[in-house]
Amino acid sequence: MKRKSFLQKAGIAAAALTVLPGSELFANANETKVKAIMIGVGLRGQNHLDLLLRRADVDLVGICDIDDRMLATSKSMITKAGKKMPQIFTGDVYAWKKMLELKNIDCVIISTPWEWHKEMIVSSIEAGIKYIGTEVMLGITLQDHWDVVRAAEKYNAHVCMLENVCYRRDVMAVLNMVRQNVFGELVHLQGGYQHDLREVKFNNGIEAYGHGCEFGDKGWSEARWRTHHSVHRNGDLYPTHGIGPIAHYININRGNRFLNICSFSSKARGLHDYVVKKCGPEHSSAKVSFKLGDVATTSIGCANGETILLQHDTNLPRPYSLGFRVQGTDGLWMDVNKGIHIEGQSKPHRWDDAQTWFDKYDHPLWKRWSKDAAGSGHGGMDFYVIHMFIESVKRKQAPQMDVYDAAAWSAITPLSESSIEMGNQTIEFPDFTAGKWMYRKPVFALNDEF
Ligand code: NAD
Repeated sequence: MKRKSFLQKAGIAAAALTVLPGSELFANANETKVKAIMIGVGLRGQNHLDLLLRRADVDLVGICDIDDRMLATSKSMITKAGKKMPQIFTGDVYAWKKMLELKNIDCVIISTPWEWHKEMIVSSIEAGIKYIGTEVMLGITLQDHWDVVRAAEKYNAHVCMLENVCYRRDVMAVLNMVRQNVFGELVHLQGGYQHDLREVKFNNGIEAYGHGCEFGDKGWSEARWRTHHSVHRNGDLYPTHGIGPIAHYININRGNRFLNICSFSSKARGLHDYVVKKCGPEHSSAKVSFKLGDVATTSIGCANGETILLQHDTNLPRPYSLGFRVQGTDGLWMDVNKGIHIEGQSKPHRWDDAQTWFDKYDHPLWKRWSKDAAGSGHGGMDFYVIHMFIESVKRKQAPQMDVYDAAAWSAITPLSESSIEMGNQTIEFPDFTAGKWMYRKPVFALNDEF
């Protein structure tokens, strides 16, 4: 719905996002501004653009995109915010390489289709940029993920995957509860991406999501590219919104790690069924064979003995839910029924309304910044991930979500594809930290700063 309303209101979006220069966040006359560039200013990139424009500590010097409509909306957002127009790079799919030649760039934010991420990240690192904030997924193949890790290590660069769900208010309250041992020792966790994307995968962009059955060249926004992944791939194509929070709960790469993984995928019916019902059996998209099973289920075992269950479910009618479950020796949270049960505190065998627990354990970051986060994307959580990234750049610190986190979370996709391809075999999970997970300490959201 958020995306839909964003698109529907595209014409007035810039006006709605206007922030007076005098009311900018983080204004400090003595501070050097972070010099930032952006590759990809589509719908997601525009969320990030909005947040960068609100900040006085960011000097946006270049943006690159190949879509004139996306560029036009972005330019109008910049003008309305009263900011200096950055250099615009466009014209061909490698125009961003020219932008990487700009001098003294502190950071780049990449919000392009998945298949571009690895190349754009590695090239940015090789161009000397030390902070890379990339939208979810480092790349496509396992080799892509290794390539990014190796490049970051070789050049001492920081690659931060901008996984915003880690900052959802309830997710962070649960993190607070986990750290205060409310659930006891964690045993089992669940999450996933359960989001009816049919209107996103088929979208002609003429009006809003929900129009048409087109994709590829005739599609718009994610229908231009994301749908191809549903044609050619089968696995958990989008694990990071579910696994990011879970990884923080059980300190993955920081005292714990993923050990092995096994995936199953159901039959693929939903996308074809949608096209036939909406546009008829003669529509060109009805002739396409989709490889992506409608519900992919992945199990992961961890070094400290926890099990994780992830589900990817984007092709069937359903309300949105990331399906979180965090279960320990003293109780559990399940987000689908908004319930928490803690033995000795909740009535036996009864759920408490989770909100009463969330109010009590609201994370210090939300207590401090919720007014600034208000109005930013996805219920405010988008503010926090950009805030953490930009503060890390300013302080020349490692971001709290680093390249090892990004690689481990992203690797679930190619590993799940391989498991399915090999008849649901259990596969060893690579250790991108090369043993350092045993010594690394948790750093994510330890206080109320960022
Ligand atoms: P989009 O299609 O709306 O935007 C992608 C943009 O990249 C388009 O404007 C396109 O023209 C541009 N692009 C493509 N190839 C390019 C190239 N070679 N050079 C420059 N620009 C290029 O898609 P989106 O929804 O903005 O998704 C972008 C990324 O953000 C994806 O990784 C997606 O998974 C992620 N995303 C994350 C969230 C979240 O909540 N974290 C939400 C939506 C999307």
